[in-house]
Amino acid sequence: MNILENISLKTFNTFGIDKTARFFVSVKSIEELKEALEWAKSQKVNPLILGGGSNILLTQNQDTLVIKIELEGIKVVQEDDDFYFVETGSGVNWHQFVLTAIENNWAGIENLSLIPGTVGASPMQNIGAYGVEIKDVFSSLKALNKETLEIEAFNAEQCQFGYRESVFKHELKGKYVICSVIFRLRKEPVFHTEYGAILETLEASGISELSLKAISDAVIQIRQSKLPDPKEIGNSGSFFKNPTIPTEQYELLKNQYTSIPGYPNIEGTKVPAAWLIEQCGWKGKRFGEIGVHAKQPLVLVNYGDGDGNEIKNLATKIQQSVFDKFGISIHPEVNFL
Ligand SMILES: Cc1cc2nc3c(=O)[nH]c(=O)nc-3n(C[C@H](O)[C@H](O)[C@H](O)COP(=O)(O)OP(=O)(O)OC[C@H]3O[C@@H](n4cnc5c(N)ncnc54)[C@H](O)[C@@H]3O)c2cc1C
Repeated sequence: MNILENISLKTFNTFGIDKTARFFVSVKSIEELKEALEWAKSQKVNPLILGGGSNILLTQNQDTLVIKIELEGIKVVQEDDDFYFVETGSGVNWHQFVLTAIENNWAGIENLSLIPGTVGASPMQNIGAYGVEIKDVFSSLKALNKETLEIEAFNAEQCQFGYRESVFKHELKGKYVICSVIFRLRKEPVFHTEYGAILETLEASGISELSLKAISDAVIQIRQSKLPDPKEIGNSGSFFKNPTIPTEQYELLKNQYTSIPGYPNIEGTKVPAAWLIEQCGWKGKRFGEIGVHAKQPLVLVNYGDGDGNEIKNLATKIQQSVFDKFGISIHPEVNFL
């Protein structure tokens, strides 16, 4: 085990925030992971688990051991008439996994193409895009208990998935390291083209026959046209979650703001946070090295040397202005560290 000291995390988070890790180690096996956790225990530090760093905002130097998860492997562990059960290591790059699934005709995650990060982080916030969430294809996961160093299995119910939520962001926050996820992928695809501009994009590309690859390509095309590439400009995707408000409140707002979009769900009406933020005048605003993206107001950006606390303060101002104008609280999706 090669523990490094005082390492810059700038290239390990997609925001490109330059904070340091007091100690840093990459682990490629469960044995290495256990060794790293034991070492952290001996140093009396609570280690930070890092995947692709695409859903974190570093607001301070990490005075602990940062463990970068690099557990690999993709294999079919079981199948029945309708499904393949595919176990995937938590360090596998999410998009690479999607591409592998498409190559093998394992259906269900094609709409989740091009989401950055690792497989291990995907259940953390029940990643989702274009009408599909991890919970729709999730079978179970294996996680190492940081205290006992035992592997435990979690089914979907135990994970308590919600919109960008799971038990690992709440009661079990910081207590487990996800080692692998078992996905339940269809042998016969069920295509989801109704969400966003998928259908239009397929039509514009002259695609008349649906396939996993065609949908994935369409999603990639849409995402590339809408979202900034973290390699070019630091960001963490959607910074805020879309709020769901009581439908009565939505109806009242609609009287005043006739163009306010709203999507009914079982809890009320979901309102796009991007619309709310844009209405408050934040879209495209730049403040020195940080700002709000010009095309997608839900995305906060670091132009180069921005600081995590500046971004956090900007986020607070945005939240306050949305609340003052609409009486709606919006909450970050990103994990502040
Ligand atoms: C351009 C862009 C677009 C995005 N689009 C989407 C989108 O469409 N939908 C969506 O849902 N998200 C999206 N995201 C957010 C992000 O990609 C996902 O949340 C992703 O799952 C994060 O993975 P990661 O490996 O980078 O996690 P990290 O940022 O490394 O970690 C996130 C959290 O999970 C914890 N963690 C990571 N790995 C493990 C593990 N193995 N065990 C235990 N804890 C762990 C970390 O400690 C941290 O608290 C986007 C981000 C970017 C930059």
